[in-house]
This record gives sequence, structure tokens and C-alpha cells, in this order.
Amino acid sequence: MNVLLVFAHPDGRSLNAALRDVTVETLKAEGHAVRVSDLYAQGWKSEVDRADFPSLPLDARLKVPSASHDGYAAGALTADVLAEQEKLLWADAVILQFPLWWFHMPAILKGWVDRVFAYGLAYGVGEHSDRRWGDRYGEGTFRGKRAMLVVTAGGWAEHYSARGVNVPIEDLLFPTHHGMLFYAGFEVLPPFVAYQADRLTEEGFEKVAGQLRTRMRSLFATPPIAYRRQNGGDYAIPKLRAAAGAGAAGRPGLCAARRARSRAGPPRRTGPRPARRLRPGRRLRLRASGPARRSGRARRLRTAPRPRAPGRPRCARPAAGRRPAGSPASRCGGRRWRRRS
Ligand code: FAD
Repeated sequence: MNVLLVFAHPDGRSLNAALRDVTVETLKAEGHAVRVSDLYAQGWKSEVDRADFPSLPLDARLKVPSASHDGYAAGALTADVLAEQEKLLWADAVILQFPLWWFHMPAILKGWVDRVFAYGLAYGVGEHSDRRWGDRYGEGTFRGKRAMLVVTAGGWAEHYSARGVNVPIEDLLFPTHHGMLFYAGFEVLPPFVAYQADRLTEEGFEKVAGQLRTRMRSLFATPPIAYRRQNGGDYAIPKLRAAAGAGAAGRPGLCAARRARSRAGPPRRTGPRPARRLRPGRRLRLRASGPARRSGRARRLRTAPRPRAPGRPRCARPAAGRRPAGSPASRCGGRRWRRRS
């Protein structure tokens, strides 16, 4: 099979570069053909501008979608973009590898997507009708190809876990997974993330490299993330809201894009939340309705006082806004919970 690795790190001796080499060696050992787009080494131009559309008349306004459409249709985009598009069409799987910078990919890689994913190639494909809303979200030019992110992050795995301060990594990567890759038709595999990357020792590197080798060996066997297909019946056209009763219905936002049963891992909890446990002595503010709400009044109750151990100082109140025990903590769950105390 053919694999394209798009690599975005400025230093050839970095941890990322070492992991890139592990990926390439492993894939080649498995018999795959591998091509690498090393964006910094190539001097990739990341910004979209007029120079990207040489056939655009000098006096014409630059409307990027239509210029992209016309340039792609005429084969008149710049040579660097055409070369990357050819690699994408060649590949059976595409890997984007980058260090997590400000919760996202480095700008040079975002610029690669902006320029290479042209109108007519990655978006604006297919029929728009009362049955279909274009070929996207699991359909389109890249349908049948796989895509995967390989990411290094300074934060800990716990920081990116279900209750972590940084929010779950799969929520953070959702714009790339769902909004870029799945949108353009790729089947998206669960990401490979190396945490605490800045503090990695040689020993730690061997462990991470071993895990990466395992993922690369199963690149074409790993089940993709079970996103809903736009035209597969889960979404009502043209409003494109998940139809009632479709799997995880009732859960908003990011969760709604995934089928209830993910082949990639355990499903997120979709049932009713467990009853809220109140700590003794905690004040509970009830949401008011009607005139009381408009006047800002709310009822306050206090649960039975917390028994204090003799000789121990009075405990501080729990931090305001702390989630009740057992409540969902992903961004989806976080939005559902209303702070009341
Ligand atoms: P390097 O600096 O190259 O190496 C990291 C460590 O790996 C070094 O200590 C090195 O000795 C060691 N190492 C062990 N074995 C090897 C080997 N064989 N080869 C090379 N090195 C090895 N983190 C987050 O979690 N969230 C963020 O939002 C975030 N934003 C950031 C924004 C910016 C602008 C920057 C600069 C960093 C940010 N970070 C963030 C941290 C960033 O994700 C890490 O710095 C990055 O992932 C580390 O990868 P690297 O390849 O640059 O590591």
C-alpha cells in the first residue's frame, strides 16, 4: 500500500524527526511504499494568497473558493500544490505528524491543508439535492483512504483524559479529524499521541517508539473512528441535524457526530446522568423560573451540616464550579452541566 507522511517540525534532530524515522522504517519493513512531505525542509508556503492562483486576472477580486475551484479544474494551481495533490491521490493512507502547538497543529501544516485541499478536490464535491448534500463527511475524493494523526504533546495523558483540564484529546483533535479529514472523505483512525514529550528520556523514547511501531503495523487493520456519514441516513437533509433516535441522539456537539457504538473504543455514556450527590454542608442554589428568574432571585438550600472531626480546622468550601461526582467531564458533558452551587 502507499503511505504519505506529512511532517511538520522545524528541527531534523527533534523527537518528532526521530518518531518520523520510526514510522517510515516500520512501514517500509511491512512492505508499504512511503513518501514524506517534510514541510519545513521543503520551505512550504503556508499562507493562501494571490500568488496561489496564477491564472486569476490581475484586476479580479480574489475570492478564494472560486479561484481554488477554477484553478483546480484547469490544473492551473502552483507546482508545489499540484505536487502535494498528486501525492494525496497516490496514497492509500495519509499520516499527519506534528507537535501540538497551542492545542492545534503548527501553522505550516494548517497552511498545507488550506492550500492543498482545493475546491473540487477536498470540498465542493458531489451533488447537492434534497437527497444528498455533496460528497463529504465520509464521502468524496478521498473515500476509501485512511488518515491518522501522530502527535507529540507537552502535557500529560491525564491532562487530556476525560476529566482532564485540557479536555480529552479526541475532542481537541476533532476539528482536524472530523472537519478536515473525515469531511474530505478519509476514514480517520484513532490518533497516536506521545504525552510529556518535552521530558522524554532515551528509555521513554524506546517505549513510545515501540507503541508507534505497533500502530504502524496495524495501519490498514485498525478500525476507524465511527463518525456518522452525512448521507447515510443519520442526518436529515437539508438541516443536517442528526435524526431523532440516531444512536447518541440527545448528546450535543462533538458527541453527536459519533455513532453511539464506536468501533474504535468504548462508547461514551449516553444515558441519564447519575443522581447528583450532595456533600453534607454544601449549599445548593436552585435555578429560579418565571418572575423569580427575571428578578435574579433563587432559592438556596443547605444540606445537613458536615460533621467536623474534633480538633480539626473547619474545612474550606469545595471550589465553586467543581463538577459533581460522576458527571461527564468531556467538552460535551461539560456543556450539559449547569453550575448551580
Ligand atoms: P524535542 O524538543 O525535540 O524533544 C523532546 C525531548 O525528547 C527532549 O528532551 C529530548 O532529549 C527527548 N528525546 C528522547 N529521545 C529522543 C530521540 N531519540 N530524539 C530526539 N529527542 C529525544 N504542549 C501541549 O501539550 N499543549 C499545547 O497546546 C502546547 N502548545 C505549544 C505551543 C508551542 C508554540 C510550543 C513551542 C510548544 C507547545 N507545547 C504544547 C509543547 C509541545 O507539544 C512539545 O514541545 C512538543 O510536542 C515536543 O516535541 P519535539 O519534537 O519538539 O520535542
